[in-house]
Amino acid sequence: MSTDVNITRLDAFTYRERIAQEGALVLIPVGTIEQHGAHLPLGTDCFLPTLVAERVAAGLDAALVGPTVGLGYKSQQHSGGGNHILGTLGMDAQTLIATVHDLVREFARHGVRNLVFVNGHFENYQFLFEGVDLAVRELQLARREVPQVMMLSYWDFVSEEVIAQLYPEGFPGWAVEHGGVMETALMLEHFPDLVRMERVMAHPPADLPPYALLPVDPSLTPGSGCLSSAVGATAHHGALLTSSIVAGVTASIRERYR
Ligand code: ZN
Ligand code: MN
Repeated sequence: MSTDVNITRLDAFTYRERIAQEGALVLIPVGTIEQHGAHLPLGTDCFLPTLVAERVAAGLDAALVGPTVGLGYKSQQHSGGGNHILGTLGMDAQTLIATVHDLVREFARHGVRNLVFVNGHFENYQFLFEGVDLAVRELQLARREVPQVMMLSYWDFVSEEVIAQLYPEGFPGWAVEHGGVMETALMLEHFPDLVRMERVMAHPPADLPPYALLPVDPSLTPGSGCLSSAVGATAHHGALLTSSIVAGVTASIRERYR
């Protein structure tokens, strides 16, 4: 039997054997297509949660990774530079809500009782939560078996020690990490061919006002498209981040599901 954890690479017979295992669990990465400056690819928010989900699944018994939700909610100026920037493909909230709702229903129909959504795009979280909530409510009302669903954003599992090592001058917060040190370090560690460090621009973290504007004022987003600079990011930082995140997510899953 294949040991690959990603269901997109499994045949249907193997898939059915694997989800029929005791305690079978499916991790579903959720990302988007979004500009990440001149040095990172548009798929960064898909590659990273997929990588995290596959690493976590590989360390657990009977764990699989579902298809990556490749299009997420619109980029916001305070967390992703803004949806006005070309390269970003932002979906309306109902698109993400409906996709997540459908995925929970489909995996429930397959008899999967343990689901974990691994989010990799800041703006997705609340709509991911809503999609799961609607699906759970629907299953409860229909008196069908309700899966246990966990929702998380991978950066929330970076330990304080790793944060201190990554940001010696002070941590600017995850919202402005868009295209910054964390995403760049993770990409350098796992997808070095897709990173162009010579194109990283040096600038202070974005100084955004305590309100949002629509239509946006494009001048508020740094010209790089990133909300903080990736100067100083290394693959070594990426390795530290990966072990911290994978250990943290794995511990939470063991706590809740095993
Ligand atoms: Zn990102
Ligand atoms: Mn993002």
